[in-house]
Amino acid sequence: MKSSLVILYHREPYDEVKVDGKIVYRDKKSPNGIVPTLKTFFANAKSSTWIAWKQVPQKQQNDFEERVTMEGGNESCVVRRIPLSAQQVREFYHITAKEAFWPILHSFPEHFTYESSDWENFQQINRLFADAACEDAAADALIWIHDYNLWLTPYYIRQKMPNVKIAFFHHTPFPAADVFNILHWRQAIVDSLLCCDLCGFHIPRYVENFVSVARSLRPVELVERGPVRSAFVPYGQALAEPEMTTQLRYQGRTVHLDAFPVGTNPQYIADTVNSPKVQARVEDIRKDVGNNKLIVSAGRVDYVKGAKEMLLCFERLLERRPEMKGKVNLVMTAVKAAEGMRVYKNAQSQIEQLAGKINGRYAKLNWTPILLFTEPIPFVDLMAFYRTADIAWIPPLRDGLNLVAKEYISAHQGQDGVLVLSEFTGSAVELPQAVLTNPYSDKHMDECIDKALDMSPEEQRERMTKLYEAVRRYDVQEWANHMFREANATGLALEPALV
Ligand code: UDP
Repeated sequence: MKSSLVILYHREPYDEVKVDGKIVYRDKKSPNGIVPTLKTFFANAKSSTWIAWKQVPQKQQNDFEERVTMEGGNESCVVRRIPLSAQQVREFYHITAKEAFWPILHSFPEHFTYESSDWENFQQINRLFADAACEDAAADALIWIHDYNLWLTPYYIRQKMPNVKIAFFHHTPFPAADVFNILHWRQAIVDSLLCCDLCGFHIPRYVENFVSVARSLRPVELVERGPVRSAFVPYGQALAEPEMTTQLRYQGRTVHLDAFPVGTNPQYIADTVNSPKVQARVEDIRKDVGNNKLIVSAGRVDYVKGAKEMLLCFERLLERRPEMKGKVNLVMTAVKAAEGMRVYKNAQSQIEQLAGKINGRYAKLNWTPILLFTEPIPFVDLMAFYRTADIAWIPPLRDGLNLVAKEYISAHQGQDGVLVLSEFTGSAVELPQAVLTNPYSDKHMDECIDKALDMSPEEQRERMTKLYEAVRRYDVQEWANHMFREANATGLALEPALV
């Protein structure tokens, strides 16, 4: 049976575990993130296919079981894995995506290198995804593609299936034309995105950037434009945008554009935080830090995340305000990148050296200013740190959205806490009550951390109440619902069960 819904997402929607020597595909342990939500739609469709890639040694590719069903899953919900060799993954994921596309998407052209990129390999893998999607999709199916790794799939799909419905969501920022057009494959990428029926981004600024790129390369017609939804700040912030284009027309096709930021799962986070296990952890952490101000900062090692700028600001804080020595603790996770991602090596050693230097300079027998984790903290522990922390410090120089901000807010349930959030994260235009900081200005960073440390409980509560409202209103379920509602409104007919 052909599928009415096909999801193309680089990750598989399950954990692969061995039980009595047999591999079974189980629900992911952590219900955090977008996969569980996407999976609900996937599982509720009459028939659906989820397409991901899986690294498989060349020798085993012939016997590789491409289609699997999840444990207890519906037989007609199939997960298809595209087998890729280690070399293909390296070229595609670690080099072309991370060394060429990632710096451009995040407006860091100085990190861009294309000499090492293998465009043919990128095309080939995108074609494999597109072919798999076309094999499984019904003629009027909805194919939902995720992220820039699959930029070319809309084009390949459209060649084979002119009437299928294609929606694409970008999980990263989308840069201004001056930066995007550095990519010399720009035309092929934009031509492919213009094959979609719906192109989704986190925030209006990214939509507008895409429109300016498309207009710089092709004679697209601007069909519809209007004020941004009330969920977004229209003025006064680095990424604010008062109006947004919602429809383009190109080569007889209407391309709908929309901004709908990914959310988190506030109810699940609140339940986790309120559980006896996490409450006990919160008490333990509080006992360890006493009355000190606890600052948490969670993220991956990545030059876009602003960890260096934050650490330098923290060092300045200890210099500027000697009374803070012994009175403030920074717990930070800078989760190291997967093996083979050479672009992050420098960023990682920079963070480790700087944290070591600050600790070396200020630590006392009974106080270490920075606790640095380079391995991911398990979700439950992270929730305990969020809940205990007086401040969450999120300083990216650029970030498509930033979910940690929304998770911290959810963990505090409108009661207390301060969110110090970079204006250059997509979520900043949804969360104006955060202490918005400019990581490009030392002075502004210093003022913001002072403001956070000195904020009264009343002001904390007032801001956090509003932030919690925003996070609950636009949670991850609403993100997916929005996409399916839009798909319907734009004529991408779906089965009623899906909306
Ligand atoms: N995270 C985690 N353990 C850690 C650090 C981060 O589980 O030690 C999770 C965090 O809860 C969040 C995700 O990693 O859900 C990071 O998402 P975000 O949007 O902030 O950044 P990204 O890594 O996608 O750029």
